[in-house]
Amino acid sequence: MTETSDRLPSNFIRTIIAQDLKDNKNEGRVATRFPPEPNGYLHIGHAKSICLNFGVAAENKGGTCNLRFDDTNPSKEEVEYVESIKEDVRWLGFHWGDRLFYASDYFEPLYQHAVQLIKAGKAYVCSLSPDEIRESRGTLTEPGRNSPYRDRSVEENLDLFQRMRAGEFRDGDHVLRAKIDMASPNLIMRDPTLYRIRKVPHHRTGKDWCIYPMYDFAHCLSDSIEGITHSLCTLEFENNRQLYDWILDELDVDCHPRQIEFARLNLSYTVLSKRKLVELVQGEHMSGWDDPRMPTISGLRRRGYTPESIRNFCERIGVARRDSTVDIALLEFSIREDLNIQAPRVMGVLRPLRVVIDNYPEGQVEELDAQNNPGDPTMGTRKVPFSRVLYIEQDDFMEDPVKKFFRLAPGREVRLRYAYYIKCVKAVKDEKTGRVVELHCTYDPKTRSGSSPDGRKVKATLHWVSAAHAIEAEARLYDHLFLKENPDDDKDVDFKTHLNPNSLEILSFFVEPSLAAATPGSRCQFERLGYFCVDPVESSGKSLVFNRTVTLRDTWAKIQKNQQKKQ
Ligand code: ATP
Ligand code: MG
Repeated sequence: MTETSDRLPSNFIRTIIAQDLKDNKNEGRVATRFPPEPNGYLHIGHAKSICLNFGVAAENKGGTCNLRFDDTNPSKEEVEYVESIKEDVRWLGFHWGDRLFYASDYFEPLYQHAVQLIKAGKAYVCSLSPDEIRESRGTLTEPGRNSPYRDRSVEENLDLFQRMRAGEFRDGDHVLRAKIDMASPNLIMRDPTLYRIRKVPHHRTGKDWCIYPMYDFAHCLSDSIEGITHSLCTLEFENNRQLYDWILDELDVDCHPRQIEFARLNLSYTVLSKRKLVELVQGEHMSGWDDPRMPTISGLRRRGYTPESIRNFCERIGVARRDSTVDIALLEFSIREDLNIQAPRVMGVLRPLRVVIDNYPEGQVEELDAQNNPGDPTMGTRKVPFSRVLYIEQDDFMEDPVKKFFRLAPGREVRLRYAYYIKCVKAVKDEKTGRVVELHCTYDPKTRSGSSPDGRKVKATLHWVSAAHAIEAEARLYDHLFLKENPDDDKDVDFKTHLNPNSLEILSFFVEPSLAAATPGSRCQFERLGYFCVDPVESSGKSLVFNRTVTLRDTWAKIQKNQQKKQ
C-alpha cells in the first residue's frame, strides 16, 4: 500500500481524483456527495461510503461533500429516517454545513428535463401495464420488444405527460420511458421507465406531485445539478452508468460527473442491506433499529462503539473494486484499540460466587486504591471498598482444577486485584445440587500491596466486589447476530433462519460502588470481562444497564476451546 503525503493510504479512487486534478479537470474542484435513500437507518456499510465521500472532499483543498437525500420513492420513505441519517452522519464526525439537499427539491427541474427529452423525441409515454412492460423487456439472451406506444408523436407525449402530472390518470395507467434500444445487451438500457404515477403524498412535497421520477433518472441529474465532480457509488451501479451517461449526454447538461464504482462492504455474521434490516425490525426480531446487535450506526453507538473506532475501521478496510467479506473481528479490534486507551477500568462480577474471608474482622471496611488505567497513570486512581464478604466469578474457582487452570481452588492462593492474597480453605456446597455456593478463605494482611514480602508468588489475579457495597446492575452480553458467517449465501433458505438464538444474554450482576454515578453512554472496562457502555436508552437514575461492547481477548477461553478440539 502506498502512502500519500498526508499519510493516508492510497486507493484507486484517490489516485483517479489526484490525476483529474493534475489534468485540471473540473477547474480543480473536487465535489462529492453521500446520497442515501431515506428508507431505513444507516449501517456500517454506509459508514464506509460516508468516510470515503467526506474523506476525499476534506483531503482536497476546497473540496466539498453534500449530504443529499435521494427521496424519490414516497411510499417507503419517512421523516424518521431522514432525521436518523442526519444524526448518524453528524455523530460519525462529518459536517455538511449548508450543503444539505433533497432530490425532491429538484422535482420541478427534473420534470422540465423530462419534457426536454420528450421534445427531442427521446422519451415517450407508454401505456402498457407494469407486467406487460416487464414481460416485453426480454432477457440476457433475448432482445426485448418495442412498446406499441413507442412511436407516439411528440405532441401526444407532451399532452399525456402533462395530464399525468395533473392527476388525470390512475397509478400504473401510464409511465414515461426513455427511447433508447430494446435490443441493448444492457437490460437497463431497454427503454427504462423515467417517471411513474404514484398518488402518494411525499414527506416533503406533500400532495404537490402525483408523478415521481425513478431513482436512476433523479440520481444522475441531481448529481449534475449539484455540480458533483466524482460520483462514488457501489459496484451494483456499474450497469446504470451507461444510462446515466445517456441521460446527461442527451440533455447536454453543464456538469457531467464522473462515476466511479467501488466494492460495498460485507461483514461476516451479519447482513448489510436495509431491506433485510427492516425485516428484522418490523418482524420484531430486534428491539428496534438501535438494538445493540444491529450493524446500524445507531445500534453500534448504543452498543458503545465510538465514532473514531468506526472511522479507523473504514480506513483500515480500504477501498477496492473487488467484492469481499470483512471479518467482523476487525471491527471488534478497532473498538478494542480505541477503548483500551480511553476506557477507565472498574470491577464487576457477572456470575457471583460468595467468598467469606474468615480471618478478616467483621464490620471492618478498607478503602483500597485502584488504578483507573494501569497503562496510563494520568487517568488517576479511585477507592474501592474491601470487606469480609466478597463476590468473585464462579468460573474463577474449580474444586478439582484441571491442568493449566491457575485460579482459585481448595488450598490454593491467588491475588485479589488491588487487594490481598487470599487462600481457599473450604468450599460449601448446596446439599441438593452439589454446586459450590460459598467459599471460605483466609487473607494475608502483609500482601496489601499486591505482593508478598517473603517473595511468595501466585499465578492468578481475580477481580471482585465487596458484597455489602456492590450495586446491582443489568449486564447485556452480545454474541454474533447470525450463526452463519454469510447468512445471505443460501438463496433457498430465509436468512432469518440463521439468526443466533443466543445473540443476547441478560444477567443481573454486581458492580463496584464508584459506578453509582455512571452516566448513560459512558464507557468502561470491567476488568477481565470486556468493554461496556451504560445503555443510553434504558438506564436511568435507578437502574443501570451495561451493554457489553466487546470482550477482551480471553486467553483461557482459547485454551479451553483448543482442549475441547483435542478431545
Ligand atoms: P442497502 O443495500 O443497505 O439498502 P442502498 O444502496 O440501497 O443500501 P442507499 O441509501 O442508496 O442504500 O445508500 C447510500 C449510499 O451508501 C450509496 O452510495 C450506496 O452505494 C452506499 N452503500 C450502501 N451500502 C453500502 C455498503 N455495504 N458498503 C459501502 N457503501 C454502501
Ligand atoms: Mg440504493
